[in-house]
Amino acid sequence: MTFRFDPPKLVDNDYKLSQSVKSRNLFKPDGLITRQDRETRNCHKSYIIWLTGLSGSGKSTIARELERVLFEKNYQVMILDGDIVRFGLNSDLGFSLEDRQENIRRIGEAAKLLMEAGNITICAFISPYNNDRDKIRKIVPDGDFIETFIDCPLEECERRDPKGLYKKARSGLIKNFTGIDDPFELPEKPEIKVNTQELSVEKSVDKILTYLSEQNYFQQPNESRELSLK
Ligand code: ADP
Repeated sequence: MTFRFDPPKLVDNDYKLSQSVKSRNLFKPDGLITRQDRETRNCHKSYIIWLTGLSGSGKSTIARELERVLFEKNYQVMILDGDIVRFGLNSDLGFSLEDRQENIRRIGEAAKLLMEAGNITICAFISPYNNDRDKIRKIVPDGDFIETFIDCPLEECERRDPKGLYKKARSGLIKNFTGIDDPFELPEKPEIKVNTQELSVEKSVDKILTYLSEQNYFQQPNESRELSLK
């Protein structure tokens, strides 16, 4: 293998850094291993499946079952889930509008990194605002953000109340609870819509797998391409 050193590129101008990026004089070194190399080695594409919906709609349940099915088929797959992220990466954030936006922004960046590392990345977050979800769609290439609306009426979510959160919200113990005293903006054009009041967990997962299959997300990357490190 021959080692080539390309000086890292200055990203100030060509990436049109937004006002919100505080640092300047940033350099982006090109990696020797590309995302495509990773996809070729994994024998599958990587992308983000973004599950959005009310608390109790079934996001975590579906994410876990989808991960299990894909893992058993030897796919490289990883879940990012609301509560887990709030214990670590986002432990400094609450549920104000600003904190919710920052929560989703960081998760979007983390999901992008996992995707670039070759993972089918399943994200399970209420993510109630269209604007926040759209921002993530925009930071990844077309087709890599698969918005999946886990659709379940509020009454049914409240009846399930798997974590007892609706009860707390109704009694005023939790403020700004999505669906009660905070809005959930319906996804305008989700790639997939799964009604978990009508479908079982298994059928819900099947619906996602059918979409992925029909849209060629399971197509093998071009295997004739040589890996960079060969
Ligand atoms: P969320 O992550 O959206 O807050 P959870 O997955 O934690 O929701 O909880 C959803 C609850 O609804 C679970 O108790 C689950 O067993 C139940 N449930 C019933 N039908 C479905 C379905 N089709 N898909 C997902 N969950 C379902």
